[in-house]
Amino acid sequence: MPEERISRQGLPQTGLPGAEPPHPAQEAPGQRPADGFSACSVDVQARVRTVCGDVEARALGVTLTHEHVIHRISNQSQNPDNTCVDTRLAAEELVFFRDAGGSAVCDVTPIGVGRDPLALQEVSRLSGVHVVSGLGLYEFSVWPESLRRMSAAELSDFLVREAEGARGDIPAGLLGEVSSHNEAHHAEWRRYRLSEEEKAVFRAVAQAQQRSGLAVSTHASLGRAGVAQLRCLIDAGADPERVVIGHCDAQTHEDIALDLDYYHAIWREGAYLQFDLFGWEQLAPDERRFQRVAALVREGAADRVLLSTDTCRRSQLRRYGGRGFDYLFARVLPGLRRAGVPDSAICRMTIANPARILARSPRADT
Ligand SMILES: [Zn+2]
Ligand SMILES: [Zn+2]
Repeated sequence: MPEERISRQGLPQTGLPGAEPPHPAQEAPGQRPADGFSACSVDVQARVRTVCGDVEARALGVTLTHEHVIHRISNQSQNPDNTCVDTRLAAEELVFFRDAGGSAVCDVTPIGVGRDPLALQEVSRLSGVHVVSGLGLYEFSVWPESLRRMSAAELSDFLVREAEGARGDIPAGLLGEVSSHNEAHHAEWRRYRLSEEEKAVFRAVAQAQQRSGLAVSTHASLGRAGVAQLRCLIDAGADPERVVIGHCDAQTHEDIALDLDYYHAIWREGAYLQFDLFGWEQLAPDERRFQRVAALVREGAADRVLLSTDTCRRSQLRRYGGRGFDYLFARVLPGLRRAGVPDSAICRMTIANPARILARSPRADT
């Protein structure tokens, strides 16, 4: 069925190879209404780096902030389902998202597991969806040998150079996902500690954040590493308002108060809480995610929540019977509305907050 739908609608003619990029880069805010909410004011003047060039942040539209469009995560997981290197397939998948009202996607595929900004540029042109390429670091096991030998200062220099598009490459629009995996005490966030090696990496990333003006997006593996990651970043000079703690919804407790306790510790510092595992029912039911986002919105945290679906398996793609990138519109937004989240908050979480976090901060000197 998905294939038929794609072939019936077709990819945009303007998006085929050799044609001009289809991006409505200077589009005014509110011109891409998304499933029931139309106007969303985005008070951000800066620009966002996409793989096809800079875009006004206020024109970015509905954005998924943690996805894997082109990747070879199977390098790390050894699971062949964790791979997508087919640009045409990826573009067809993003067309479902675009047709539902989506406008932009952050690909946060780290170095060593198939990060490929050039392929993302082709996917963006084919699909008409803005794509922001993240520059991330994952488990040491997949790091290239050259990076493993670097000091923290050298690693910071490397990240800044790469983010700027070293060697004629495409610049990054985000530092992430950056991971820690020291899960010995993952159930209790107060006891979570980064390993010494991970601390060195997060310090280097904090330096790169300051120098590049880009935001940092983390992989807080089983959902409780975020506070430790955040403190390490802040201690090394990162701006907490330029930090996104990922996978906040990887783990939930029956007692919502236990989850809110963790979320509050991140929110208090001014960082962003990313609920990026919608659709991953094997980790936690979406219903709990809806309830937790709704609770945060009631408490006034709508300006600090981001939504995404961490798509990283072929079986999650529409072509293979999966939920697709349009799951945000099909299930997530209706679920949030049922839980009492008003459209004004949905606008902030899907449009205004991504625009703010992806806009390069004015003090960046590079
Ligand atoms: Zn992750
Ligand atoms: Zn991810």
